[in-house]
Amino acid sequence: MIDQLYAAFQKSTGVSTDTRTIKSGNIWFALKGPNFNANRFADQALEKGAGLVVIDDENYAKDDRYFVVEDTLRALQKLGNHHRNQFSIPFIGITGSNGKTTTKELLRDVLAKKYKVHATGGNFNNHIGVPLTLLQIDESIEIAIIEMGANKVGDIAELCGIADPTHGMITNIGKAHLEGFGGVEGVIRGKSELYHHLIQKDGVIFVNSNSEVLSHIAKRRMKSPFYYPAKGDYFHAELIQTQPVLRLKTEDNLEAATHLTGAYNFENMCAALCIGKYFEVTAKDALKAVADYDPDNNRSQVIKKGSNTIILDAYNANPSSMAAALAHFSEDKSDSKVVILGDMFELGEDAAEEHKAIGALTLELGFDEVHLCGTLMEAGKLGNEKAHYWQTKEALVSHLKENPIRSSTVLIKGSRGMSLESLLDNLT
Ligand code: ATP
Ligand code: MG
Repeated sequence: MIDQLYAAFQKSTGVSTDTRTIKSGNIWFALKGPNFNANRFADQALEKGAGLVVIDDENYAKDDRYFVVEDTLRALQKLGNHHRNQFSIPFIGITGSNGKTTTKELLRDVLAKKYKVHATGGNFNNHIGVPLTLLQIDESIEIAIIEMGANKVGDIAELCGIADPTHGMITNIGKAHLEGFGGVEGVIRGKSELYHHLIQKDGVIFVNSNSEVLSHIAKRRMKSPFYYPAKGDYFHAELIQTQPVLRLKTEDNLEAATHLTGAYNFENMCAALCIGKYFEVTAKDALKAVADYDPDNNRSQVIKKGSNTIILDAYNANPSSMAAALAHFSEDKSDSKVVILGDMFELGEDAAEEHKAIGALTLELGFDEVHLCGTLMEAGKLGNEKAHYWQTKEALVSHLKENPIRSSTVLIKGSRGMSLESLLDNLT
């Protein structure tokens, strides 16, 4: 099956899984949704220009433009893996609880100073995104960077089976997706599947020495990983300023201001610089790439709105990234500091306890005004009786209309589903 499908892929203009964005000559895969049978859309895909449609129900096949397989998702993954195996270039796998995309983008820009790089686009880091990313690689590419996301134990092992990374790193281990992993122990087990893969394949591993858990696993199991970012590590740098943006000094005594905020981004930058050093990008070029990197899509952006400065981090939130953002914000020197926090999703049975802990942390760190918003955040109110609590964003918005925030620095953070970026218009 795979040889035939691969021959068709090589003649095609690429792969699509979405009838809305098909390009002429694409191979279209009918991937099942939770509530629909994608095989039904095969005719539509052909009408929109697909050259071949891959389906897993032969009843929908009409002629030789329909390619019937047992399972379309498995076929896509096999095709991605088969294509990946045509290349003997470095494949760098990046996983971890927080900071994968940021690290991937920083690393992409660092390596692009010397190589032709292909990296995961956006956040396409799952069992569909990884094969699609692999299928975009062509002969011109010298290094590939693959972001790998996980919701449960076994996910990373599966993605390693598809992408077969030769190099890799785990950004950190934190409290993300606790529900699917069944607690932090599960997160550790799940994320270290990347290490297992690399150890087995005699691959190269980069380790964040600031993480106790990761260093512990590295010491026990690995021959000679490349550590960052502490003194004495393979790559070392220092954070010399944290407000309003991070400024760092590398082991070569080079200094640069970045566009990033949040002390946690220091580790993300060091990971990119460490791997850049390994691949012999000059220290100066690598640091310039990091300094020039400007994050988009609501990930730790600093925005001026009227008399306010907004630190918008509405891209995602979990207990560890929330705590890191609050700790960082508490060091801000502004006269008036306001915190607006939204629900953190996917915490399962830990949700109430974790929201309460975040509420308590806002009290402990002592901000001028705290707003907790969303149904889960009600538990946060128990941790901080002084905080304002709003069950809905609408309730918070009407409060802000009557009691506008002025001349303040405002940290906004919550899970993606809360879309807290929509509050921006009410903060001028
Ligand atoms: P996803 O699971 O959505 O793919 P991700 O791991 O790719 O997330 P990023 O998109 O890079 O992570 O960052 C998302 C948010 O996580 C940032 O806005 C920031 O709040 C937080 N974050 C980033 N890096 C770290 C880090 N090293 N430690 C803690 N929190 C971090
Ligand atoms: Mg990501």
